[in-house]
Amino acid sequence: MYRAAARAILRSMPTARILVVEDEPTIADTLVYALGREGHRVRHCTLGGEALEILREGATDLVVLDVGLPDMDGFEVCRRLRTFSEVPVIFLTARNDELDRVLGLELGADDYVPKPFSPRELAARVRARLRRLPGAQAGAAEGERWRALGEFAIDAEGRRIRYRGQALELTRYEYALLAALLRRPGAILSRAQLMERGWDSDADSGDRTVDTHVKTLRAKLRAAGAEADPIRTHRGLGYSLDA
Ligand code: CA
Repeated sequence: MYRAAARAILRSMPTARILVVEDEPTIADTLVYALGREGHRVRHCTLGGEALEILREGATDLVVLDVGLPDMDGFEVCRRLRTFSEVPVIFLTARNDELDRVLGLELGADDYVPKPFSPRELAARVRARLRRLPGAQAGAAEGERWRALGEFAIDAEGRRIRYRGQALELTRYEYALLAALLRRPGAILSRAQLMERGWDSDADSGDRTVDTHVKTLRAKLRAAGAEADPIRTHRGLGYSLDA
């Protein structure tokens, strides 16, 4: 009974692809285990340079980044990372002076956890951060508002979406449709669900309207360089997005 409840809670938690950058094996093992147990797909590396290579591939939803790394410090990793990605970063800090720099937040860190930490606490921070994806923080600076999702990046506050680094010129409805699909990559959303998320009056509602906007949206993605159509049609069910 308790076990079933625990499973239900686990299912409702957001899971993600997480990169752990930590050079101390015992801490790294603890992190990989604690995050893996929550259903996340966890990758681990020990060097900042290696982390940046992995992050350039773009398939990471969140980074847990140790400040003290053998090749370059975590601040430098974060600074370089921010030139090409807005993926959330949670710093692991060992010393107070590191903490002061994180708190300065010139680095675009999303959170920090001072060492020593409990795996449970870290997992909770990760969960809290993932719940805010891809929504933007109110009043965040321009650069911080963009969230990368595969080939897409979304600024929910500014209601803008980029595809492969290019800004898409979208109508209000096209934006609403794509944003709804991006919120749940891979999930099939029915036309009714898509309308509910994107339409604020039912003046323009109707299944045909959704299809029309999906059609123009696809044309814009093709124009932006999509070879394979990222929007999938599921006959009789709706649409999903391959991000
Ligand atoms: Ca370290």
